[in-house]
Amino acid sequence: GPAWVEEFPPLVHSSSILSGASPTSGRVRVLTPAAALGCSADTIILANLSSSSWDLRASKLPFLGDEERHSLDLLRPDGPIRDARHQLEHLLAAAPEVLVLDPSLDDASPAAAPIREWAAAHDPDDDAKVIHTEPKHPFSPRGLRQSDGTSLRNMLPSVRPPLNPSAISISMDSELQRDRERRQPSHADDDGYLAQASAQHLFSIDRADLTRRTPAGTKSPRLHNRWPVVGGFVAGGKRSPTIDPRPFSPHATGTEVSDSRHGHSTGAEQDIPVWSPSRLHYWLKCPRMGWLSNGLKAEEDELQAEDLDPRTHGELLHNVHHDLICQTLGFEIGTERPFGEGSSVSSVTLSGMSENEMMRTALESLDSRAPWLDRTDAVSTHRLMVLTGMNREEWNRWLTDPGPVPPSGRVGTIVRAESAVRHAAPVCLEWSMADFDEAGIEISIPTDIAGGEKLPPIRVRGFIDRVDILPMDEASQEWLDPDGDESIAPLRVHGSGWRPRRLVAIRDLKTSESKAAKIRHSDGLLDELQLALYARAWEIAHPGDLVVAAGISLFSHHTEHMLEMSTQYSTSHENLQLGTRTDITTSLHRFPDESPSPHSDHFRAWLAQRLAVALRVAAGATAGKVHPTPSPGVCGYCPVRNVCEVRMEAGF
Ligand code: SF4
Repeated sequence: GPAWVEEFPPLVHSSSILSGASPTSGRVRVLTPAAALGCSADTIILANLSSSSWDLRASKLPFLGDEERHSLDLLRPDGPIRDARHQLEHLLAAAPEVLVLDPSLDDASPAAAPIREWAAAHDPDDDAKVIHTEPKHPFSPRGLRQSDGTSLRNMLPSVRPPLNPSAISISMDSELQRDRERRQPSHADDDGYLAQASAQHLFSIDRADLTRRTPAGTKSPRLHNRWPVVGGFVAGGKRSPTIDPRPFSPHATGTEVSDSRHGHSTGAEQDIPVWSPSRLHYWLKCPRMGWLSNGLKAEEDELQAEDLDPRTHGELLHNVHHDLICQTLGFEIGTERPFGEGSSVSSVTLSGMSENEMMRTALESLDSRAPWLDRTDAVSTHRLMVLTGMNREEWNRWLTDPGPVPPSGRVGTIVRAESAVRHAAPVCLEWSMADFDEAGIEISIPTDIAGGEKLPPIRVRGFIDRVDILPMDEASQEWLDPDGDESIAPLRVHGSGWRPRRLVAIRDLKTSESKAAKIRHSDGLLDELQLALYARAWEIAHPGDLVVAAGISLFSHHTEHMLEMSTQYSTSHENLQLGTRTDITTSLHRFPDESPSPHSDHFRAWLAQRLAVALRVAAGATAGKVHPTPSPGVCGYCPVRNVCEVRMEAGF
């Protein structure tokens, strides 16, 4: 770490090297390991050797995807460490005396990999001489500033004036924020939920609060006297469920210099003509994160993983899924299949193909989309086994005679999962909202549905992974009601007299190795916004269509298509295989102007609530609300966490 600065001056002072004996400008040169290649010296001091200082991770290169990199064998992830080993060997041989300042006495700064390797070979018992330096006064500019800072914190005058008086309190930001978090209300009123006035003191919610079961003796949110509600601890120590109260608008503290750092000043107003669901989600999770990463583009450089990037892996599986459907049902990715009255083949499973034949189609797609699988390096061989369940020999044998084979591996689970959705008819994959309106689809909600709030509309652009038409009847023969309305479906269908021409399910495809399908699905429904935005955008672009189901399809060890479904549709079509059905929103959602005995469809009420949250998030960004809302689950994955003083550490 920076402590090497403290060690450097005593070493230089004790050096026997004469000054001025060379025509070069000085006897001491400070060089990086790469710049020192080819140089020799009387003494070499290797300093600042921690793994964070000698960063050996390979950064991504623009315009070159992981697949190209793998297939062309370019920019190997182990490239920097191989170079570093070479540089270290050179430095060790370039002087009769080489001093290596080992930073590993400090557990927080382990030595960089080449140093660890060298130490393991030459000092296996770790008994190298420890150089003790205990300077009475700090040497480095940083040390001097630090000692001034300590003096100020202890209410003592500093030796030098602060560079920026407004910055003195930055070091207290985290403590102040933690203190405010501790004061967040957490105990419910007698009616089982936090008092209405508590909302302004909230900074964060636990995503588990959105899906909790209602404790015994407490009314569920849908049947409660007031709606929406925020859960809290009730008698017995259980927590009641929460209807997403975001975006949060915490109060300013009244300390101008601190408030101005935390989004309570002017100047950060955003003008975002078109939103994407992922951008909205960033702002929803934490406005500061949305602003820094999407507004100011202050994210850290992406680094290469040694294995395949998880996004590349996910994209590959999604494409195999798409190819399987498109090739079987005869349409192109991104286009809408004409399907409705009189259409014959509705789904892959009902096309007459056996599972083994479907597996052949899926493997042909995999082979064409991932030619790098043919390479024999460890990453490709491992991925081949994960994706197909085949080793290299079996794969090569299949390539020479590509016939039907039993489903196995991740690709096999995609094939098998299609049987569980046999009665849903896919009509579009990767549908682009820009196909309907280049400027994005305008999403708005009426004031009564937004709880009396007038929310400005937003324009949204993005891609819907998969759209299925659902049968009107249990025999799955009728797909279109010719007498249905040809106008855009109202958000509140109940009591409107509006009748759909087609019924639709929206699916968002996700890949995860760690999350269970049900948890990922409930996150998609209650924590994220894309499902609701996709559903409404499809309805707006397809007058007469009514979305009655939406959910996450998770590609993992097992692929599972989950669907949250309108109860009315689900109970009247209970024998159809449309995916794993859930009724998570049944006890949670109603329209804000409804009484505690609502008659509306909970699925449509969920849709309206998620859209209202999306519009509020966008309105907050427009108004320049860029305050931080730290929580362990969000800060842990925040791309700007290293520049955020109030971040929460995981497990906090
Ligand atoms: S670290 Fe946490 S509080 Fe800071 S910007 Fe990221 S999510 Fe927000």
